[in-house]
Amino acid sequence: MGLDEDSLEYHRIDPPGKIEISTTKPTNTQRDLSLAYSPGVAAPCNEIAADPERAYTYTTKGNMVGVVSNGSAVLGLGDIGAQASKPVMEGKGVLFKRFADIDVFDIELDEGDPAAFAESVARMEPTFGGINLEDIAGPDCFEIESYLREEMDIPVFHDDQHGTAIISGAALLNAVDIAGKSLERLEVVFAGAGAAATATAHFYHSLGVPADNVTMCDVDGIITEDRMAEGDPHTYIEAFASSGAGGELADAMAGADVFVGLSVGGIVSEEMVRSMASDPIIFAMANPDPEIRYEAAKGAREDTVIMATGRSDYPNQVNNVLGFPFIFRGALDVRATEINEEMKVAAAEALADLAKQDVPDAVVKAYGDQPLQFGPEYIIPKPLDPRILFEVSGAVAEAAVESGVARDDLDRDAYREELEA
Ligand code: NAP
Ligand code: MG
Repeated sequence: MGLDEDSLEYHRIDPPGKIEISTTKPTNTQRDLSLAYSPGVAAPCNEIAADPERAYTYTTKGNMVGVVSNGSAVLGLGDIGAQASKPVMEGKGVLFKRFADIDVFDIELDEGDPAAFAESVARMEPTFGGINLEDIAGPDCFEIESYLREEMDIPVFHDDQHGTAIISGAALLNAVDIAGKSLERLEVVFAGAGAAATATAHFYHSLGVPADNVTMCDVDGIITEDRMAEGDPHTYIEAFASSGAGGELADAMAGADVFVGLSVGGIVSEEMVRSMASDPIIFAMANPDPEIRYEAAKGAREDTVIMATGRSDYPNQVNNVLGFPFIFRGALDVRATEINEEMKVAAAEALADLAKQDVPDAVVKAYGDQPLQFGPEYIIPKPLDPRILFEVSGAVAEAAVESGVARDDLDRDAYREELEA
């Protein structure tokens, strides 16, 4: 059977879907039930009414993330609507649980208007310890997220934007290291100026790439100040608009150190790769087909090409599952009020550092015994590496405390032990 048939069967097997709610306290006796519900339940209600923070003591709030979508930009499927997006959001819940033991309610909201959508999500704050926005189209996603970050006192994180930024940012840190380049002098060209590319450009800037060294291109070519002045394409990339005359993606790539593709497959030629600076870094992350194929990019030149894609069948897969479960784990465990830039940078640095360490045999085995050693073909850890949980969650929790957004204190060693257990 093919993948589609297998997947339909996987989802169809009774009970339909892939998650269920289970209870965590005894429910065997009349006494148990009168604790779980009326009349006993009034006691924790009164506690929380007196101090809302006690919701973290008496309810699931502290380990509960809302995965919220309107279905407007689902995977490679586009605007398929809220209902059709539900398998994806349930799937995101599966990953949160599997990798970080976080419980998820998936919320599919049938609301196309960004202001109304954001307003609805803001009112869900009592339920959740954090909000993972998912598969919401740009530029609405920027407006929705910035409103909710302002409005809500719990972390709000649009994974399609920041997950990609953080994981590819970890890859960038190591690629720059291996290629002997420096972040301050890096010339970076983006294909794409949508949800993922916009956040990634901002994040690379946070990592140390000067805004003037970033050139962004969309389907109409280089994004210039002149185009921005005409309202094209959206204001969230203003910092990266080029002051020059503009041109095509090929013009932008000539002499560049780094190509970041978050656009569509097949738009980069070997000729364009040859026009780049020495030892170029190529992150061709369009899914399912990258901007240029791995073999074509590697074969285009004699010097070292450091390549990453979104695909699992090539080295250096930029896979968001390396980030969101562990970033939320760390944020929830110190009751952070947000996921700020310091926490994102800490996550990227922890992932980059982990790739430099020896890989446990069990992880090598899980990936078919291919050699996993720090170098051009291994710049980011593999998703099934169990060390990611304590490295990334620990780094994120610590950064939350240090940057002053944690409501709980952290004993780093005790926390690490707890995660390792
Ligand atoms: P998006 O918001 O729709 O953005 C797509 C961008 O690509 C738009 O700016 C679009 O420009 C531009 N584009 C389209 N054709 C182009 C061309 N021929 N040359 C240059 N730019 C072009 O989508 P997104 O959510 O950011 O995702 C973009 C891509 O990245 C998708 O393929 C997605 O699968 C991939 N992605 C991969 C990962 C990963 O590997 N971890 C994570 C996130 C996203 P116009 O608006 O002018 O059309
Ligand atoms: Mg997504």
